[in-house]
Amino acid sequence: MIKIEDLHKSYPIGKDSLHVLKGIDLHIKEGEFVSIMGSSGSGKSTLLNIVGLLDIHDRGNYYLNGQLIKNLNEKKAAILRNKFLGFVFQSFNLIAYKTALENVALPLYYKGMARKERLKIALDYLEKVGLKEWANHLPSELSGGQKQRVAIARALVTNPKVVLADEPTGALDSTTTDSVMDLLKAINDEGMTVFVITHEEEVAAQTKRIVRLKDGVIISDALTKVAKAV
Ligand code: ATP
Ligand code: MG
Repeated sequence: MIKIEDLHKSYPIGKDSLHVLKGIDLHIKEGEFVSIMGSSGSGKSTLLNIVGLLDIHDRGNYYLNGQLIKNLNEKKAAILRNKFLGFVFQSFNLIAYKTALENVALPLYYKGMARKERLKIALDYLEKVGLKEWANHLPSELSGGQKQRVAIARALVTNPKVVLADEPTGALDSTTTDSVMDLLKAINDEGMTVFVITHEEEVAAQTKRIVRLKDGVIISDALTKVAKAV
């Protein structure tokens, strides 16, 4: 599903450049539930942004669903993102003046789907994350955990191949964190590939594989007890 070979990424900083990813090799197969850990600045978000086609690597190869990612312009990247990827962020990124239902339906609008149909599908996904009753509420009326579940429904509504989550529980307390992780686990149980960044060991331990990044290189990559128990 995701195959990365000797991937490098630098950012220009003034006249210098900051070498952030220094030769990443990573293969994530369809249906995996993987977390990436590492201290602040180790390059986690940089890696996830490249995987998510939000940023471009400088060197090495990236294959998404077997397709070599090369010379992508913004339009092509957007098409591939819509087709294959769903995103969840720490800060939820919901649109404040749209209801939960409208937020979930938004990616379908960008796909050109008629309003009635997209609201119907969005409601199914809100039900899936346990928030059908909250469909007509604004994000400001929802708790943090509820907002993140709306964001997860929005990530799923286009039926992506992979869900990418950058610190999805970073803004949540431990009980809410567990409910969000249970939801990601349920999605993975249905066959979805899930790739999540976290700096919490307890969160990573709920995934099936932990990749550890340090100073732009992978220092360990191992299955968790969850994976071994299956
Ligand atoms: P955190 O846990 O704090 O989110 P991270 O592991 O996600 O950290 P990254 O966001 O990938 O780290 O950043 C890695 C390094 O690259 C940092 O030193 C950061 O300052 C730098 N960096 C990230 N994005 C950019 C950018 N767009 N331009 C310049 N430097 C950047
Ligand atoms: Mg980050």
